[in-house]
Amino acid sequence: MTTDRVCDVWELSRRQGSVEGALALGDAPRLAGQLADAVGALRYRLSGLVDELGRPAAVLELQGRVRARCDRCGGPVELPIDERAQFFFVTDEQALGKLPIDESPQEPLLGSRRFDVAALVEDQAILALPISPRHDDCAGPGPRDGDRGSDGETHRPFEALAALKKKARR
Ligand SMILES: [Zn+2]
Repeated sequence: MTTDRVCDVWELSRRQGSVEGALALGDAPRLAGQLADAVGALRYRLSGLVDELGRPAAVLELQGRVRARCDRCGGPVELPIDERAQFFFVTDEQALGKLPIDESPQEPLLGSRRFDVAALVEDQAILALPISPRHDDCAGPGPRDGDRGSDGETHRPFEALAALKKKARR
């Protein structure tokens, strides 16, 4: 097990190895741009396997907490990120283009001997964000007192997750 942010996915799959680490939000500008701040990190683990169709594949697990901006009041909303997704790897762009759309819920990725794990983590975290983050009990525009004491538990992330799963199953 290594903590490299770049890995050889063919080797990872063959050895059924894993890479894990933490992606600081400060190092994820595309993600941080959609958040209230860039404080914190996401823990990730990419575990290699050979899937049921014999393809080199991997499971990405992603966990952490981020703060997005509430669509109604503009205040920070804490969102738990807890994602798990399986991918399989193809060797070139051409193979990627030839795949039938929606053949399976698992997404194809262009594999590499120097695959950018950190970029995949960032992409998945962005997909996991709700389209319109809101406080569950948002009082609407304007300053509110409740923000500080909020424990950040909202139902929105789970709705987003459900929507994502539905999309993946389509
Ligand atoms: Zn709000």
